[in-house]
Formats: sequence, C-alpha cells, structure tokens
Amino acid sequence: MSRPPLPPGSTIGILGGGQLGRMLAMAAAQLGYRCHIYAPEKDSVAADVAAGFTCAGWHDKAAMAEFAARCAVVTYEFENVPVAPLAAFAGGQLAPGVAALEVAQDRLREKRFAVQQGGTPAPFAPVDHVNDMEAALRLVGIPGIMKTRRDGYDGKGQWKIASSLDVQGLRVPESGLVYEGLVHFAAEFSVILVRAHDGEVCFWDSTHNTHEHGVLAHSVLPAPAIVTAQVDEARTLAARMAAELQYVGVMTAEFFATSAGPVFNEMAPRVHNSGHWTIEGAVTSQFENHVRAICGLPLGDTASVAPRMVMDNLIGAEALDLARHLADPRAHLHLYGKAEARAGRKMGHVTRVG
Ligand code: AMP
Repeated sequence: MSRPPLPPGSTIGILGGGQLGRMLAMAAAQLGYRCHIYAPEKDSVAADVAAGFTCAGWHDKAAMAEFAARCAVVTYEFENVPVAPLAAFAGGQLAPGVAALEVAQDRLREKRFAVQQGGTPAPFAPVDHVNDMEAALRLVGIPGIMKTRRDGYDGKGQWKIASSLDVQGLRVPESGLVYEGLVHFAAEFSVILVRAHDGEVCFWDSTHNTHEHGVLAHSVLPAPAIVTAQVDEARTLAARMAAELQYVGVMTAEFFATSAGPVFNEMAPRVHNSGHWTIEGAVTSQFENHVRAICGLPLGDTASVAPRMVMDNLIGAEALDLARHLADPRAHLHLYGKAEARAGRKMGHVTRVG
C-alpha cells in the first residue's frame, strides 16, 4: 500500500537521541522536513541538530501523547524503545511498525523468526532458568556464547563459554538468556535494505565488517569473495523478514559468512553503523532513503559511487585527533558532538571513497 508523500515542512518524530537520530535529522532537513526528537537523556546529539526536543521518560504518557500530536510520522533510531507506550501513535503513524521492534528486542524470538523465514542462525537454546544451563550446553555444544535475550548491544550482555565451568555463577535475568554455538566464520557482513510502503525493496552493497571488543571497527568495500558469493542468499532472507513484518524504512540483517553459507546473527530495525559509508559512498544514503521511505517519497538509487570504500569508526579519545583524520584531504570526517570521549564510546567515523 502506498501513502501520499508527506509535504515538506512536516514534522518527523524520532524516538531516541543518539548519532543515528542525528544523521537521520540531517538527511530529513535536506529534504525540507523538521525533526522532533524524543529521548529520556537530556544530552542528545540528535536534538542538537533538530527543530524540537522532548526530554521525557518512555513511560511518560502525557509527553508521548503530545509528541504524537506534533508529528506527521514517527520513527525510531534505537531498538530498545519499550513497546507499550507506542500505543500513543495512530495506525500507520509509526514506521517501521511495532512488529519489527518486538522481534528485534528479543534474541530468541529473532532467531526463531529467521528460521521461519528460511534462515540459518547459529545453533541455539533458550535458558529461562539456571536449571536449563546444562541442557542448553549439551544441546548446542561448547564453545559457545551466552547472551541476554533483551537489552544487549555492541557485545554487551554476552559471555564466552569455553567450558561448563564458565556458566557457574551466571545469573539468569527475568527476561532470560539464549545460548548459541560459536560460529567459525571467514567474515562478517550485513545486508542493509530499504523497503517502501508499496513493498519495493532496494539493497546497498554489503561491506566486510570487522569488530573489535564486540564493537564495529571497520566496514570495507569490496567485500571478500566469500561474502559476495553469499550476499544473494542473505538478501533473500532479509527481504522475506522485512515483507513479513510489513516493514517500511531501512532494515539491517547481520550475517557470518561461513564455509556452509550465510549464518544469520541478528537484525536491527533501523539504519546501521555498517551503512554510514553510504552518506558519501552511495548515490542515496541509508539515512536519506529511510526518510524517503517513511515519508512516502520515491526511493533513491542505492548504488555505490565507487568500487572501493573504507569506513573507520572513531571510538573513545582517538576521535579528538582532528589533524590525523584530516591529513588525508579526501577523508570525510563525521563527529557526533558527544561531550565526553569515554573509552569504547562511538564518537564519530571517517569515510574514504575510491
Ligand atoms: P552481537 O551483539 O550478537 O552482534 O555480537 C557482537 C559480535 O560478537 C559479533 O559481531 C561477532 O563478532 C561476535 N559474535 C556474536 N555471536 C557470535 C557467535 N555465535 N559466534 C561467533 N562470534 C559471535
């Protein structure tokens, strides 16, 4: 189903106040829209570049209702927004919808959903109670990774299990854990797609992603042959998941390229760090196409503008070394405006095209 294009000057609401919201707001401004940020933290790097800001808790009903009344369309840049308060939005006002959030917020549900859509995740078993640990380890095998079902990101809420002794003393939170086998992969990559209201889907090229301490460090094009050989299969799964969720906007699915084919890791119902290179490296960036999709505008071309691209994340204090980042006159530096360069914190990124 298509929707009439949202007229320029309309207000887009963004739930979440981080750097993804900031880059969405900048893309929206270019298309003549205004953005209003809703976030519980008063320091919001998205609000710094937006027309309006509501600083309130997710469960503040009055603030959420007022925000809903201000915005023609509402999107999110953070997948752990609680679902219940989103009832404040009228049918179709929230894009992507609640279904994508519900799947992405729960690792167990996400893996089961990927299996239903024909995908292959790492072998996994739920751990709802301490007594389930032993059976899960036996079923999946060791080594593996124990992960919280909810609220994990960037490698947080994860424990490597190299022997059965490693689970001793591990607490099981109320929302449970999921134990998954350690995947021996040749490379990691993501499929980033944009889906319009009418079901049209476009993909960006898949980069080779490398992580350090569980955090994305680099995204590089071209990806190695093992990745390019598996991209079509991974795209088919990602597009099926998006269609089933009646998804509108940019969606990301992360994969391990293994000798047995692509292994699904997780999905993000939003623009993604491994797609930041698209700002300068693609005809239309992931941020612009997300805005176009949710506003009912025609999608832009997702083709890469050059065959070679490198995006380096700037983590912690290294972001402050401007002279080094700008020594290469072709480097595109993005700083997110975060006040404090704490260790491990994503402060910005640098993209080199060609
Ligand atoms: P995640 O938060 O699940 O994306 O995990 C962060 C990173 O940890 C991934 O990008 C991988 O580098 C690594 N990782 C997570 N799960 C596995 C697994 N089952 N096998 C091997 N590496 C993993």
